[in-house]
Amino acid sequence: MYKNLKQVTETAEALNMTIGAFNTHNLEMLPEMIRAAKEMGAPIIIQTSIDTAKYIGYKVLVAVVKEIAEDEMVDVVLHLDHARDFNEIKAAIDAGYSSVMYDGSHLPFKENIAKTQAVVEYAHPRGVSVEGELGTIGGTEEGISVAEDDKVYTRPEDAVEFVKATDVDALAIAIGTNHGQFKSKTEVNIPLLKEIHAVVDCPLVIHGGTGVKEEDYPELINNGIRKFNVGTELLVNWTKTAKDSFGETEVNKSLRHNVIPANIAVKNIVKHKIGLFMNVESPIKQTI
Ligand SMILES: [Zn+2]
Repeated sequence: MYKNLKQVTETAEALNMTIGAFNTHNLEMLPEMIRAAKEMGAPIIIQTSIDTAKYIGYKVLVAVVKEIAEDEMVDVVLHLDHARDFNEIKAAIDAGYSSVMYDGSHLPFKENIAKTQAVVEYAHPRGVSVEGELGTIGGTEEGISVAEDDKVYTRPEDAVEFVKATDVDALAIAIGTNHGQFKSKTEVNIPLLKEIHAVVDCPLVIHGGTGVKEEDYPELINNGIRKFNVGTELLVNWTKTAKDSFGETEVNKSLRHNVIPANIAVKNIVKHKIGLFMNVESPIKQTI
């Protein structure tokens, strides 16, 4: 079924698990991502950047995601990632996205609150969930790279005030993760997460999930992370696999032969991640 973020994070809270939020970069990989969730028996959040939404079309994405969600009988959220432009947020909501992120983390605290409130006021009456962000996540945000010295961790007291003032459905926090990190792994600040989780009554979100060590997942999930973003790993592996197949192909061979292996590479990663996100001590062994 087609769901919003609030609905699936409630499930995650009840089952002490987290919901994978996977970035799709094209229409090719999308069906296999949703089928991966179906095979694992878990909800999935499909998220897009504004640029991907424009490349495919907001309405096209909504139609495709809804159709596959219904057809495959799996709970799917369609979420707009890192939007700073009200017009883009409105375009996504009006087209039928079920969740949006307003990223005001670069703004002064009060301005971030005020602008996030405006997005919530537009989204909530339309049944659309809103994710906010506090602090700065490293790496590249919206094409602007964040220098190591400019990284600001989320302060627990700010998070309390922000959630209360804005009524967001989920909060992205900065606890040491970086966007685009895939060659190395980060040291997540677990003590800070625990502090935030102890005082904030709101599902928490990890960005830059590719750079997080898998052995850290249980502790993140046990401390309130209910949405876990994974983008880079899918992108890197789709590209690698496609590069290999296209590198060897005859030019008149059906494109399917080169694109399907790349889609399957993405599907296998999504299944593997969801298996960990379900947070069971001895997960059923998945063949990937
Ligand atoms: Zn992000």
